[in-house]
Amino acid sequence: MALTSCQAQSQSSTSTEASVNTDSTLNVSKSEAEWRKELPHMACFVLREKGTERAFSGEYWDNHEPGMYCCAGCGQALFDADHKFESGTGWPSFFQPAEGTSVLEESDDSWGMRRVEVMCSACGGHLGHVFDDGPQPTGLRYCINSAALSFVQSDSTSVKGIQYD
Ligand SMILES: [Zn+2]
Repeated sequence: MALTSCQAQSQSSTSTEASVNTDSTLNVSKSEAEWRKELPHMACFVLREKGTERAFSGEYWDNHEPGMYCCAGCGQALFDADHKFESGTGWPSFFQPAEGTSVLEESDDSWGMRRVEVMCSACGGHLGHVFDDGPQPTGLRYCINSAALSFVQSDSTSVKGIQYD
């Protein structure tokens, strides 16, 4: 008498290898000592101390692979490679956060400049700043430190290099 059992699909097929977290509430809270223990030096410097990596020094400013940029601190998906553009600044730049993701934005008047700081909405980690000189459609430029990001490449189901002749 089992009805429509053929509709049952395995829900577990989506891999959670990067533990992408799409919750938009601040749900990761760790002590600064815990962060320091878990994060690489540069990630800690950026995320927890609001540091800025040197231009052109990071891992991702010149990365053109398809995929998702997640928070290096907590794994929340933040920016989609589809929204990345060549800003020439030496930092990964996006014109909007990934679909369904909210980042925290707060005005930052440090260094005598009026800027808007961008933070991960899940763990509060500092990511970079957003400026209003970006390309269309948003006109925004999210200038993000590579060290605050962890890139998860899209599933490369079409692996290149294997050819059957
Ligand atoms: Zn985070």
